[in-house]
Amino acid sequence: MIEQQSAKLKELGLRITPQRLAILAALDGDTSHPSAMEIHRRLAEGYPTLSLATVYNTLEALAENGMLLELPITKGKLNYDPDTSDHDHAYCSVCGRIFDVFPEGEPRGASLPAGALEGARLLSVRRVYYIACKECRGKEDL
Ligand SMILES: [Zn+2]
Repeated sequence: MIEQQSAKLKELGLRITPQRLAILAALDGDTSHPSAMEIHRRLAEGYPTLSLATVYNTLEALAENGMLLELPITKGKLNYDPDTSDHDHAYCSVCGRIFDVFPEGEPRGASLPAGALEGARLLSVRRVYYIACKECRGKEDL
């Protein structure tokens, strides 16, 4: 695990530090789509010298190299997903949680709608469903 994370940092040209290793460990298998601030908050106790800037630039380097998905779901905030496989997200406007939505059956978003943007080639589709989740249903209007 540590070897794997060290290799990742090396590949990114980042110096291997306990702080950066902790950031990678915190992301590993995380399905809560944390923001940089949330990751910083989680690690602050164990790594009091860890700066928010280090969290930001480590996440940015990972995202730029396709090792992390950067999700611009809410205004002025980025959330991160270590699962870079092809999938969508659902954002609960009430509690703010972000859920993974995996395609069922046929691959999603294979083409642009017929007649739209003629001559354009589709590169990728990133879909966000805005929802009131199971726990929040009925509270949408509060
Ligand atoms: Zn909710």
